[in-house]
Amino acid sequence: MKTTKKILLPENEMPEAWYNIVADMPNKPLPPLHPGTKQPINPSELEAIFGKELVKQEISTERWIEIPDEVRDLYRIYRPTPLVRASGLEKALDTPAKIYFKNESVSPVGSHKLNSAIPQAYYNKIQGIKHLTTETGAGQWGCALSVACQHFGLDLKVYMVKVSYEQKPYRKSIMQTFGAQVIPSPSNTTEAGRKILAQDPNCSGSLGIAISEAVEAAIMQPDTRYTLGSVLNHVILHQTIIGLEAEKQMQMVGDYPDVVIGCFGGGSNFSGITFPFLRHKLTGGKDIKLIAAEPASCPKLTRGTFQYDFGDTVGMTPLLPMYTLGHDFQPADIHAGGLRYHGAGTLVSQLHKDGLVDAVAIKQLDTFAAGILFARSEGIIPAPESTHAIAAAIEEALKAKVEGKEKTILFNLSGHGLIDMTAYDKYNSGEMTNFEVTDDYIKETVGRLEKILK
Ligand SMILES: *Cc1c(COP(=O)(O)O)cnc(C)c1O
Repeated sequence: MKTTKKILLPENEMPEAWYNIVADMPNKPLPPLHPGTKQPINPSELEAIFGKELVKQEISTERWIEIPDEVRDLYRIYRPTPLVRASGLEKALDTPAKIYFKNESVSPVGSHKLNSAIPQAYYNKIQGIKHLTTETGAGQWGCALSVACQHFGLDLKVYMVKVSYEQKPYRKSIMQTFGAQVIPSPSNTTEAGRKILAQDPNCSGSLGIAISEAVEAAIMQPDTRYTLGSVLNHVILHQTIIGLEAEKQMQMVGDYPDVVIGCFGGGSNFSGITFPFLRHKLTGGKDIKLIAAEPASCPKLTRGTFQYDFGDTVGMTPLLPMYTLGHDFQPADIHAGGLRYHGAGTLVSQLHKDGLVDAVAIKQLDTFAAGILFARSEGIIPAPESTHAIAAAIEEALKAKVEGKEKTILFNLSGHGLIDMTAYDKYNSGEMTNFEVTDDYIKETVGRLEKILK
């Protein structure tokens, strides 16, 4: 008998609430601190930066948070997303393991980012906010937010890392098509940008710098709020729709994963696919392994330190307790732009510290080898970020083969790579390289952190 290839959840079974893992965490996350006073920040202070309802979600301890109808209506454009049995990949690997992936690449912007862009735009809109600001690296978050803002009639300013703005023009075109204003960062439109340009007029920018600019722009202008596409608790909350759907789809085929895997930038797609399953471990004693797949060149979970750190480069954001490489760590210019971030979100950091989440670091060439095997066996070209999850899934499947054990593996395909073909060109022509990070460099950037946690 043929196995089912695509497991489709009926539209009327799309989850009606997001899952907040804080309710079930054995050790609750430490509070964010004010960057000036270093004291726990008052939620009302966060409301100067973020929408009110989003701040409420950021600190919520409620287990389930209802998804508004307006958000569910927009989700229906591409959700529920398919769960797919990677039968082609299983065959190529000749493994006894069963491999499934959740296909988030079917969203209109090609990644999972829209899952949080829609509610973030919605909550700001109903609060009466008129303008949003944000930053974007490779452009996936900016694209997602431009779609959501266009829908809700919000004006959007995106600070895009200059090197991406120049080298990856297509995502800029997508944002502009949806009506967003895209500004290469560092720019002379903010104090933070001007300061950096004064020191280095040719600075090609970084995610940390772009965040500083977008936060400043939100604080300085009326009716304006800032939004972030990863790291924060409310973003992770929205992304749990991925795992909640996958949980139902696994049930539909009478299966359950032994291992759940996601690639790791700030943690939103990883948390999205894994947290609903982790809840079975926390509350029902299920034996399940969760693996965050990060780039070897930006190894915050495997080689970073657990400490309070800023989310940006300049030090304007609240201090968050996280696994970090230090906020002035400069990640190598790998093609998985969405994974080039110095820190991990607070929730995953605490869970990793408590031994509930595992992490692996994967070298760039290995990720592309995995991506190409996946493309050829499943017919989808994965995003360079997603290839990290694929590489980790392949490793687990090959382990099962050596051990001659059956095993069920689930990973998240966070996006497709159709706008990242320059990266595949580099790999195919043999020009791509790995990047090593020395212990000395990590020691240096981590050493510059103020030791708030002793
Ligand atoms: C942004 C992005 C990531 C990394 O961000 P997380 O918050 O860690 O999920 C991974 N994959 C794709 C396709 C992305 O766009």
